[in-house]
Amino acid sequence: MTGLTPPIPDSDDWQLLLSESVRTSRELLDFLKIDPAQVAVLPEAQLDFPCRVPQPFMERMQPGNPEDPLLLQVLPLANEAAEVPGYVADPLQEAGATPAAGIIHKYNGRVLLVAAGACAVNCRYCFRRHFPYQDHLLDRFRLNQSVDYIRSEATISEVILSGGDPLVLSDRRLYDIVCRLDKIPHLRRLRIHTRLPVVLPQRVTPALTGLLESTRLNVVVVIHSNHANELDDEVGTGLAQLRGAGITLLNQSVLLRGVNDDAASLALLSETLFSRGVLPYYLHLLDPVAGSAHFHVPEVKARELYAAVLNRLPGYLVPRLVREEPGKGSKSLLLPACS
Ligand SMILES: *Cc1c(COP(=O)(O)O)cnc(C)c1O
Ligand code: SF4
Repeated sequence: MTGLTPPIPDSDDWQLLLSESVRTSRELLDFLKIDPAQVAVLPEAQLDFPCRVPQPFMERMQPGNPEDPLLLQVLPLANEAAEVPGYVADPLQEAGATPAAGIIHKYNGRVLLVAAGACAVNCRYCFRRHFPYQDHLLDRFRLNQSVDYIRSEATISEVILSGGDPLVLSDRRLYDIVCRLDKIPHLRRLRIHTRLPVVLPQRVTPALTGLLESTRLNVVVVIHSNHANELDDEVGTGLAQLRGAGITLLNQSVLLRGVNDDAASLALLSETLFSRGVLPYYLHLLDPVAGSAHFHVPEVKARELYAAVLNRLPGYLVPRLVREEPGKGSKSLLLPACS
């Protein structure tokens, strides 16, 4: 074994909190004291992607405000049921890019490892809301296959743990994965795409930072925050602990109508991220996944917002505006609108 530190047993606080997540629109609205008559929610029977919100995230929403930018990201609305042309189950055609169980290999030099089949929060705009996780769940047998694939492809220098959300895995499971990757000589970096440090900051435990600190791989954690209100002091503390472990912190957001589709919100998000030690990385256009059309921001408007944000912030605080297109070898960069 290399120098990896086995985790001390999980502190189960975060797992308990996770198990106590809100699972219905009704509970969410009750907690926020919002009259259910004010919002057209999707009836439980029509929910193919359940409602799921951890308490610490819910507590950052504004009571009584049905337009709260955090609430809108997680509340199943009736308009999810609308069938909109062009909005499909697998907009990125990931189903065709899986050379081994749990692996999505579309770009040179880096692969996604679908490490977990669930998330702490169910984001209503998620492009993987229809992903067939049951076909990719990483039991030991499948993990062996995924790792064999990565080992056999010497061009891969970075593994991206994705999901689902890899940080819903226990420290033991993560340790098992990281140990295996640590031993593959051509790997240099381990990237973790996760919303846990934002929606359940209690997940950042000494056991987790210790584990990530002990691998020889350079660790990058890409958090996913769409609005400055998500980044309270508790989140800041967790992020500081990750930074203290030498981890590079980046953020990706999705441009969402009603949540962050104005220049002031985007600028404040970047400023707040930076004050918490995180650099903005990508601002994604929404992927056209069935059920998410009500979040759509037209490309023209997106490029205008991009120009407005460039005009307000230093360049290093401006995320790249990108869209993901099936069949391309990277995200596609968009240009700011000319003024
Ligand atoms: C987005 C993505 C990546 C990572 O792309 P970067 O530009 O390196 O952030 C890798 N693989 C897949 C399949 C992706 O969708
Ligand atoms: S945390 Fe990420 S993968 Fe999970 S539902 Fe939200 S956007 Fe999708």
